[in-house]
Amino acid sequence: MRVVVTGAAGFLGSHLCERLHADGDDVVGVDNLITGHLENLESLFGTTRFTFMHCNVSDYVHVPGEVDAVLHFASPASPQDYLEYPIQTLKVGARGTHNMLGVALAKGARFMLASTSEVYGDPLVSPQAETYWGNVNPVGPRGVYDEAKRFAEAMTMAYHRAHGLDVRVARIFNVYGPRLRVDGRVVSNFVHQALTGDALTIFGDGSQTRSFCYVDDEVEGLVRFLHASDVGPMNIGNPNEFTIRELATLVLEMTGGGAGIEYRELPTDDPRQRRPDITRAREVLGWEPVVPLREGLERMIAWYRRELDEKGFVGGSGDPAARR
Ligand code: UDP
Repeated sequence: MRVVVTGAAGFLGSHLCERLHADGDDVVGVDNLITGHLENLESLFGTTRFTFMHCNVSDYVHVPGEVDAVLHFASPASPQDYLEYPIQTLKVGARGTHNMLGVALAKGARFMLASTSEVYGDPLVSPQAETYWGNVNPVGPRGVYDEAKRFAEAMTMAYHRAHGLDVRVARIFNVYGPRLRVDGRVVSNFVHQALTGDALTIFGDGSQTRSFCYVDDEVEGLVRFLHASDVGPMNIGNPNEFTIRELATLVLEMTGGGAGIEYRELPTDDPRQRRPDITRAREVLGWEPVVPLREGLERMIAWYRRELDEKGFVGGSGDPAARR
């Protein structure tokens, strides 16, 4: 297959590109590099079957040649990033999705949307099945991401219904692993804080929950979904739920971090709980995550230690604090 991946230089996008490339696909990576970094694609540059296009998919996109699949993964993805880039976040979810749907339609390609558990907002049911419509505040600070992704889902389904486009809507839940930037997300924040001797910052009282999926599990689920014959939406996440306090305790135990915990204000509209119901993914894809949190954290911590030892910082460009 010849596959276009937008957001290719991001955390999840880069892991996905590597996997598709290893599977034998020709990969065209697209990114505007506002939150992505070319270092994430280091292993692919200079290989055959990989090309990179530096462009903003919210503008007109021309992809030369035949394309079999378009995977639209471009978007700021951490609350800190989408608060910093609120308009870009809305644009890439709306215009970017529209443009990439247009590319898929013109090429006769399959289209996969990277949607999110945030479409469920602050959910009133747990676990969240795909049939749940969500509880989103459209005018709150997180609305720029949540509503962009909800619009993106609606647009994707409209192309499916109106044009018969072959689509996949994947709802992704809190992915972590090597290359996750120190971008305000909880796992990267905690690991980075613990390894640099800072106190772990728990927002609120830490009783809110999330369900963390190791990146290799996530990519496996996404690739199976891409090749399955099901439109979705499909939750692709790990159903094991942890409180943020439990996560902090585990990270402190695993790193021997001595600086303890500091409590900070809970951000507006921060969801109280999040846990995917993955019955559909189990049945349709024969998939479920296999990497337990402790094991995934071990791999991530080892990678963070190497980055800190070799470069003195984690991620692509300079001191992550500069981007906070
Ligand atoms: N969080 C925290 N400390 C941090 C960063 C995040 O306690 O340093 C909390 C945040 O308030 C939320 C959860 O961890 O309840 C997950 O936050 P993240 O930004 O990783 O992703 P979200 O699931 O909210 O999009």
